Amino acid sequence: MAAHDTVETLEKILTRVKSIDPVNTRKWFDDLRITAFDHGLMQIACPDQSRAEFLQDHCSATFTQAAQAVTGHLVSVQFLEASDQQPPVEVTAAPAKAGRVRLHPDYTFDSFVVGPCNRLPHASCIAISQNPGMIYNPLFLYGNVGLGKTHLLHAVCHDARKHSPNISIQFLSCEEFVNGFISAIEKGNLTEFQNQYRTVDVLIIDDVQFLREREQSQEEFFHTFNALYNNRRQIILTSDSAPQDLAALEERLISRFKWGLVARLDAPSYETRIAIVKKKAHLRGLELPDGVAELVAEHIKTNIRELEGALTIIYATAQTTGQPITLELARQALGVQEVAVVKNVTMSDIIRMVSEHFDVRITDLQSKKRSQSIALPRQVCMYLARNLTRHSLEEIGGHLGGRDHSTVVHACTKIEQMYKDDGDFRTRIDKLSNTVTHPV
Ligand code: ADP
Ligand code: MG
Repeated sequence: MAAHDTVETLEKILTRVKSIDPVNTRKWFDDLRITAFDHGLMQIACPDQSRAEFLQDHCSATFTQAAQAVTGHLVSVQFLEASDQQPPVEVTAAPAKAGRVRLHPDYTFDSFVVGPCNRLPHASCIAISQNPGMIYNPLFLYGNVGLGKTHLLHAVCHDARKHSPNISIQFLSCEEFVNGFISAIEKGNLTEFQNQYRTVDVLIIDDVQFLREREQSQEEFFHTFNALYNNRRQIILTSDSAPQDLAALEERLISRFKWGLVARLDAPSYETRIAIVKKKAHLRGLELPDGVAELVAEHIKTNIRELEGALTIIYATAQTTGQPITLELARQALGVQEVAVVKNVTMSDIIRMVSEHFDVRITDLQSKKRSQSIALPRQVCMYLARNLTRHSLEEIGGHLGGRDHSTVVHACTKIEQMYKDDGDFRTRIDKLSNTVTHPV
C-alpha cells in the first residue's frame, strides 16, 4: 500500500473509531501510523509503549471493527511501539505472573492540573523523577480516593524513564506486594521475591493502607524498606490516610514513613476543577462549549474520577442522541436543574452573618473552641458554605479553625438533619441563607 493510501485509510479508520468509542478516543490518535498491511494483518505504530498498551487493552476490538469496515477485508490489527531507538525499559511487578503495571498514557505530568490542593505532591514527584533517591526519601503521598495519587505515580515512572532509560522501577499496588509475598512463602521462593524488590532503583507501592492488619507482610515490607533506604534507592508510597492515622500499622513502620516527605492531596477548588475538566476534554480531542466545564465543576466537588465520569456521560449522551454537545445537553445529561444565579457568596459573608445572628464572635467561630454555643453556629457556617459557595470541604474547614474535611461533612449532615426535623430551626436557616445571598 502506498504511503498516502495508508494515511487515508487510517484517517477513515479513526473517524469510525471515534464514533464507535468516543470514550477511549484520544487526541494523540492523530500521531498513529500504519507501518504494514499485509496478509490481513495491519500494524499500527504508536509513539510509545504505554500508548501501544493502552490501544491493545482498550481499543483493539474497535480498531479491528473499523479496519474491517474501511478495507472490506478480514483484518486484524496490531499495535507496536514506534521508537526503536530507545530500549523498552521494564517496569515490572514481581512475581512475573502478577503482570506488569501498565503505565497509563493519560497519567503524565502534562495532563496533571496543579492547584493549591496538590502543589506539594506534584512538585515533589517532579523532583523525584529527575533525581530519584536524592531528595525526598521516602515520599509518602496521601489523600482521599480519586485525588490523583495513582496519576502522579504513573507520571513519575513516565518521566523517570525519559531521564534515565535504564532505570529499574518496581511499581505495584500494595495488594500485589502482599499477595506476592504470601505466594512466595507458599512456594518457598522468598529469596527470589525479596531480591526483586531489594535491588531496584525505585520502589513504588500504591495504597499502603492495605498493609493494615497484615503483620507478616508489614515485617517483610519493613526489611525491604530498610534495604532500599540504606542503599539510597527511592521509595514512594501512597495511602488513603496520613502515616500516623494508619491504625494497626506497626509503630516502627509508621516512623519510617515519616522519615522523608509526607505530602497531602486535597480536594480541588472550583477553579482547579474547571481546569481539570478542560484538560480531560482536550486529551480526548473534545470541544466543550462555554459553560460546560463550569457546570461539571460545579456539579461534582470531591472526586476527580467523577469529574471524568460526568464528561463521559455528556459525550455518551451526545453520541446516542446524535446531538452536538451544548450546555443544555450537558445539563440534561447530568440531571442538573438550572439554578437562579445569586450573588457570589464568600466565606466571610457567611461567617459575618452567622456571627451576628447567633451573637457569637467571629474569632470564636474561627477558633478551636468546642463549647456547644460556638460549635452549633460554626456548623451552620459550614452547612451554608457547602450550599452557597463553591469552596471544597478542606477550604471550608480551613476558614473555620482549621477543621478537616470529615468535620465539615459531619457538620453538614447534622445541620441537614436538624433542618428536616425542626421547623423553627428551618425558618432560621432559611432566613440566614436569604440574608447571605440577598444582602441589603
Ligand atoms: P487516587 O489514586 O488518588 O484515588 P487517581 O490518581 O486514580 O486517584 O485519579 C483519579 C482520576 O482523576 C484519574 O483519572 C486522574 O487522571 C484524575 N486526576 C486526579 N487529579 C488530577 C489532576 N490534578 N489533574 C488531572 N487529572 C487528575
Ligand atoms: Mg489510586
